[in-house]
Amino acid sequence: MVVQTVLGPVPVSEIGFTLPHEHVYAKLWLIPGRYDYAGQIDNEDILVEELGEFTVRGGSCLVDLTLPGIGRDPLRVADVARRTGLHIVAGTGFYREPYYPPEARIDRRTVESIADEMVWEIEVGIGKTGIRAGIIGEIGTEKSWVSAQEERVCRAAGRAQARTGAAITTHSVLGRVGLDQLDLFVAEGADPRRVIIGHCDWIADLDYCQTVIDRGASVAFDAFGHPDPYTRGLENMVCEFILELLRRGHASQLLLSQDVCGVVNLKRFGGAGYSYVQERVIPQLLEGGATEDHIRTMTVENPRRLLAGPPRPPIGARPAGRATL
Ligand SMILES: [Zn+2]
Repeated sequence: MVVQTVLGPVPVSEIGFTLPHEHVYAKLWLIPGRYDYAGQIDNEDILVEELGEFTVRGGSCLVDLTLPGIGRDPLRVADVARRTGLHIVAGTGFYREPYYPPEARIDRRTVESIADEMVWEIEVGIGKTGIRAGIIGEIGTEKSWVSAQEERVCRAAGRAQARTGAAITTHSVLGRVGLDQLDLFVAEGADPRRVIIGHCDWIADLDYCQTVIDRGASVAFDAFGHPDPYTRGLENMVCEFILELLRRGHASQLLLSQDVCGVVNLKRFGGAGYSYVQERVIPQLLEGGATEDHIRTMTVENPRRLLAGPPRPPIGARPAGRATL
């Protein structure tokens, strides 16, 4: 089994400490009427320097969930992967309704056509780059409900998961909407064990996390280090949730990340950077009673299992075809 990175397939055994929900380049301010995001810096040297903080502390792999409409650029991410030596995995799919790019024509396509596009990016490549996606997501909802367009994308993600085996990872920030997304994925044939419900730390609801786990999916606590006073204020409580879920025996369904997506997250500009989980979160969990085995399960074994897939045939070996748009 391999992990599909922007520089090609990598044997799973070579993947070490992984951040499963991050962004390299991102342009979150493109949505009409929204001017409140600082956005990510468009400077490769600074991003390479910031990511270096993660690698010097033992970081091996990072999942970049930037999708079309918010600045996805796999060729530039591949350059960053070359310069940092990091294994970087790219996502496929569409983010959440206000960010769906007009050219994606979500309202005018069938679920199957959207699923075909995701499958194509996983099996053949993103556009003409020859770079394959290694995960579906982040698949999101804007509010605490799933809009009609978002339902179409969720159903397509479920079908693409069933067809390719690639994991789905979500953006689910308001209420228990992650469970509604999970229902849609599963209704289309997805395996809940290959679904990651993201942003669970924003909800601050241990019962919700337990329900996601009982349904077979994984829970991602991925807002560590965010400057947002709301999530920063919840961090100690989130660590207590993780410790409780570890005591309940759920280490194999927990993931840790930081969702770095803007200049405010970068160390150079006063943020916590890409190494906050290593520097602050893991020591706090160990102090609270987590074991080294727990940490390895959450940061190495779980990402390996969720990112692993079969090697795909070389692009030139595939029959000619074209992506459905
Ligand atoms: Zn994100």
